[in-house]
Amino acid sequence: MTDQLTFDDPRTRFPKIDPRTDQIQDEPGLQSEMTPVPDLGEATYRGTGRLTGRKAIVTGGDSGIGGATAIAFAREGADVAIVHLPAEQSDADHVLEQIRAAGRTGVSIAGDLSDAAFARDAVQQAHEALGGLDALALVAGKQVTNTDVVELPDQQFVETYEVNVFAAFRMVQAAVPLLQPGSTIVLTASLETYQASPERIDYASTKAAINNLGKGLAQQLAPKGIRVNVVAPGPTWTALQVSKGIPAEEIEGYGSDTPLGRAAQPAEMAPAYVFFSSPESSFVVGATLAVNGGTPTP
Ligand code: NAD
Ligand code: MG
Repeated sequence: MTDQLTFDDPRTRFPKIDPRTDQIQDEPGLQSEMTPVPDLGEATYRGTGRLTGRKAIVTGGDSGIGGATAIAFAREGADVAIVHLPAEQSDADHVLEQIRAAGRTGVSIAGDLSDAAFARDAVQQAHEALGGLDALALVAGKQVTNTDVVELPDQQFVETYEVNVFAAFRMVQAAVPLLQPGSTIVLTASLETYQASPERIDYASTKAAINNLGKGLAQQLAPKGIRVNVVAPGPTWTALQVSKGIPAEEIEGYGSDTPLGRAAQPAEMAPAYVFFSSPESSFVVGATLAVNGGTPTP
């Protein structure tokens, strides 16, 4: 176990990934079945009241980066609604337990974000369940590896755009009329925004779209007092990767090409979402924070 407040070496703060390549799951993947189980900061994240009284929706909040963000938000004093697929209920229950252990309200909204009506309705459900809404962390994402554009199934690239890009439009449309000045929206891009992988051209291009959406939306909503920013994670050990997000042979040594020489754990992403959602970052608008272990981005 590591302690957030001690002087840790970033190269070794989290263990290297078990190089087993036989842990491939079907989408969306359960993180509870991974070896090692991704670290959501359960043992380490310490809140200091930076989101006291806030009411947040976190998509993909059952696991990985969204799960770590949901836990961090609760420990910072926010009530949190997490959105996830029905098949992920057991992972969601783990995060809900952590939110409630922090003394906050935690609710889970299960459904498919590629369904336009659900994407909009999830915002309404969160607003009703929490008695308000003032923070969106849109973290859910679909990533399925495919190396041949000719073979890329229509359904795959359409669904990838539905979940990664169109759901963000729809959720923001549903949320803006409900948001008061001081509210925040954080979108999730990727290192692949800048470095498109030839193994997932659909996914990589959605991440460029999301980053660009963040820039435009930030300027449109700033006059309303709503701040929009973007987190761009680098390689992170999550269910997304072992459920066909990357080719099986790339699990071994995953992330070792970063300057830090390893992949991140989801716990290392959550502070970026907290920063953008906290009033402490009140003059930060339309920014993209790369959290990628040192790979330069434009
Ligand atoms: P994850 O699998 O733990 O989380 C992704 C979540 O997206 C799932 O838990 C699921 O709840 C949600 N989701 C997917 N399809 C959905 C659908 N149709 N309807 C509703 N929810 C759906 O993996 P993660 O790596 O934590 O992913 C979170 C975000 O981080 C994604 O946007 C991903 O693109 C981004 N990201 C991840 C990495 C990485 O290396 N893991 C790198 C850069 C960016
Ligand atoms: Mg999940």
